[in-house]
Order: sequence, then C-alpha cells, then structure tokens
Amino acid sequence: MTATVLVINSGSSSIKYQLVDPEGGEALASGLVERIGEERGRLRHTSAAGVVEHMDPIPDHGAGLRMILDLFATVGPRLDEAGVVAVGHRVVQGGAYFGGPAVADDRVIEVIERLSPLAPLHNPANLRGILVARELLPGVPHIAVFDTAFFRSLPERAATYALDREVARKYRVRRYGAHGTSHQYVARMAAQLLGRPMAELRQVVLHLGNGASASAVDRGRAVDTSMGMTPLEGLVMGTRTGDIDPAVMFHLHRIGGMSVDEIDDLVNRRSGLKGLAGVNDLREIHTLVAAGDRDARLALDVYVHRLRKYIGAYAAILGGLDVLTFTAGVGENDDIVRAEALAGLEFLGIELDPARNAGRKKEATVISTDSSRVAVLVVPTNEELEIARQAVSLL
Ligand code: AMP
Repeated sequence: MTATVLVINSGSSSIKYQLVDPEGGEALASGLVERIGEERGRLRHTSAAGVVEHMDPIPDHGAGLRMILDLFATVGPRLDEAGVVAVGHRVVQGGAYFGGPAVADDRVIEVIERLSPLAPLHNPANLRGILVARELLPGVPHIAVFDTAFFRSLPERAATYALDREVARKYRVRRYGAHGTSHQYVARMAAQLLGRPMAELRQVVLHLGNGASASAVDRGRAVDTSMGMTPLEGLVMGTRTGDIDPAVMFHLHRIGGMSVDEIDDLVNRRSGLKGLAGVNDLREIHTLVAAGDRDARLALDVYVHRLRKYIGAYAAILGGLDVLTFTAGVGENDDIVRAEALAGLEFLGIELDPARNAGRKKEATVISTDSSRVAVLVVPTNEELEIARQAVSLL
C-alpha cells in the first residue's frame, strides 16, 4: 500500500483538501468546502468515483471537515485503507520561527497563534483547520507547512527594511515573503527537468497567479523575494498594487480623507490589473487589448515592466542567471506575458524560442532556444504535493 498525505488548506470560510501520494505525485482525491457559516454551504469532492456536490448549511469548520471525512468514507477513497501517514496543513505565516515544516503540537500551535497579527486573515483560519483536524483525525501526525519557510533563509540584507530598528524589532517588521511552498517546489522541479543539481544553479522563479511573486534562488537557497511583510509588495497582481511609494497612503489619508481600512481595501482588492483595466484576469485583459482598449494596454505594460525590473534586479543579486521559470495561472498559461517579459533580454543570456513558448503548458517544459545561456522553463506549480512531501520529510 502506498503512503498518502491528506493536505488541508483551511481558509476563513473554506477548507480545500487533497489526498496526495507524495512519492508518485498523484492526487487520489480533492475537494473544497465553501461558504462555511453562511446560509448555504457547498461541498465538492472529486475522486476516481467522479464528482460529488452538496449544498448544505455548514455551520463551522468542524462540521465542514466532518462532511469531508464522511465523503471519503462513503464515496472514497476510504482513508482507513489509503495509508494516510500524515495530515499536512498549509500555514501562511511562520514568521522568523519556522524554516521548515513542524509537527503541529501545542507549542507550535501557540506560536502560530502568536504570529496572527502578521497575517490576521490567514493564520487564525489555518489554525481552525489544524484544531478540528487534530480532533477528528487523532491517529496521525499533523504537520504545519509554512508559506514563509523557504524565505526564512533570506540574508539579513534582503529581509531587513531600512526602518528605525527599534520600531522594526518591536513590531516584527521585516520581509517574510509568501508563496514559498510554490517557489521551493518549482525551483526543485526546474533543476530536475534540467537534470542538474540545485547546488549549481542561480534561479529566478516567477509565480504569476492572481497573487504574484518573484524569487531569487542561489544554489537552492532563497536570497530574495518580492513579497514583503505581507503579500502586498512586489509585482503587479490581479487586485494588488505591488510596489508603490508608501507616501501615497499618507496622501490618500491626508488629502483624500480615506481611512486606513479604505486604503487597505483599495490597495489590496481594487488595484493591480483590476484597478488599471477594470478586470483582473489576464485573458480578459488580452481580449480588451485586442479590441484597442488603451487602459488594458497600459495595465499590461505596467505589469510586464515590473516583471522585467525584478528579473534584472535578481540577475544582479545572483551575479548571473542559469534558470528562469514561470509558474501559476498566468505563468503557465500566458505566452504573451512570457514573451513580453523576456523580449530584448538577450544581453542577459535569455533567448526565448517562440514556437516552444506558444500555448499553455500542462507539463514542465523548456521554452528557451538550445543556444540560450539561461534555460527558460514553465513548471506547473503543485503546492499540495510540496506540502505532502514536506510533511513526509518530517516523519
Ligand atoms: P492562479 O492564482 O495561479 O490560479 O492564477 C489565476 C490567474 O491566472 C487568472 O486570474 C488569470 O489572470 C490567469 N490565467 C488563467 N488561465 C489563463 C490563460 N489561459 N491565459 C492567460 N491567463 C490565464
């Protein structure tokens, strides 16, 4: 019997889950419980037996997880026969504490709780999932896998903001990064695809989804990343500004009369591509661009300009570049963004092959020319598999 890991990603009103074979990389079942605490909850479970959907009220996370476990028992695969060796929990913020996965015991739970002010929307929701799962699945180890762990290794010079040191220390203000699980998985898969050890490679990973981040990975160690204390910093995203002069916030407050909460909402949920073009999905942006929409064209230009800036900056930080990899919704599917981001970068050793770049990529693919000094890749990310593998690595 193969060993499997149940991966749980608990949000404020949802639980996403996947039963993963960490060795083969296969997902044996997956699903999503949504609208917990609302009038009509929703559960969707996908397995070899097909897709099962329920619309029922789901009062809390405990009820949600109980419904999931019921479906495993009735629809399958049965967890008691699936060789579950661990439950892997996604946790967004591990602060300066966790550089790798950790058994979610009472001490670790207490630290995750203490870190909640740094991720007020995520850590409490992640914790809720851990607590109910520990109760309902007491027979297996529960492992917390942190989004920030891969970036725990950032050199101080990259993690430190040039802020008054006392204030920074008191409020734990520094660069923690995010999407680390994805960056780590993709960097490793990129090396594997090239058949070269991580220890030889200077890599840039571009995780371009609705949220987007870049990382510089020097011979396996993350040395910089674009997201900061929170996921607001860095690249232009679906609805977030990414880098912006912080004094814009003072201006909007003092001159625009906006409250802190209004500004928070503006920069996190009403900006980025959506703010510039009215839509956050790049497919829609391309349609608008093709129809001559100038706002959409500007949005795409700003998006690509920022990407190019980070590629150049990270090439400088790494002292050269061996591999550049695109991943996530945009990175895997959008050949226009990939081509525009890398156009004219031959001076860095980057030569994209237009035929190889064309189209969506479902599998890890080389999209640079054979003579390109930098290998340019698309590697589909798989955060669940990475969580499962990290959980197993701790057993
Ligand atoms: P993610 O957060 O990784 O699920 O990525 C979601 C984003 O990927 C969407 O908002 C789109 O901008 C982008 N995306 C998904 N599919 C495509 C596609 N076929 N072409 C271009 N962009 C896509």
